[in-house]
Amino acid sequence: MILPIISSSFDSNVFLIIDEKIALVDTGAGTSNLVDEIRKRVSKIDLIINTHAHLDHCGGNKFFKCKILVHESDAAEMRSGEFYGTCSMAGKKIPLRVSEMLKGGDKIDMGEHVFEVVHTPGHTLGSICLYERDKKILISGDTLFSDGSFGRADLGGNFEELVSSLERLSKLDFNLLLPGHGNIARDEECKNAIATAIAIAGV
Ligand SMILES: [Zn+2]
Repeated sequence: MILPIISSSFDSNVFLIIDEKIALVDTGAGTSNLVDEIRKRVSKIDLIINTHAHLDHCGGNKFFKCKILVHESDAAEMRSGEFYGTCSMAGKKIPLRVSEMLKGGDKIDMGEHVFEVVHTPGHTLGSICLYERDKKILISGDTLFSDGSFGRADLGGNFEELVSSLERLSKLDFNLLLPGHGNIARDEECKNAIATAIAIAGV
């Protein structure tokens, strides 16, 4: 089961995966409301997977004692606190723990859900999406939003790579899109989202 905690604030959306293992995909900025919301639903978390190292997605990591997984290209910034974008704008360094580094093609076996790591650089160099191939679910971080927009590439990212990443996503078959901000998309809305993104990006 995947429980979405949709945020309307600075926090990212959080996806709570309750399976043989219990995982959080992103943890928001670390505001108490969101952490309380997570703790109300589960008493322990086995692992956190961060879609990328921006503070609004990983600031809540510090409240959970568990394994923390992030792509190898964002890991160094996370460990040093030398974040680009949201963290550096906050004006202080916030080093965060990383337990394991992910690469594109890795599989994260949760039990009923098996997520493939799709490396989608662009918004940040180590941005990832998580793809559940059998269930046709895509957790997209800030690489693709439901309205067809996408995260900015000027906070430590690269626009050309973002365009290639969107093309990569357009080849995946998914009917549930769980983005890092905003609403969830289903069925036709997923196809519209990726088609709109590709059109905006000018591929
Ligand atoms: Zn971001």
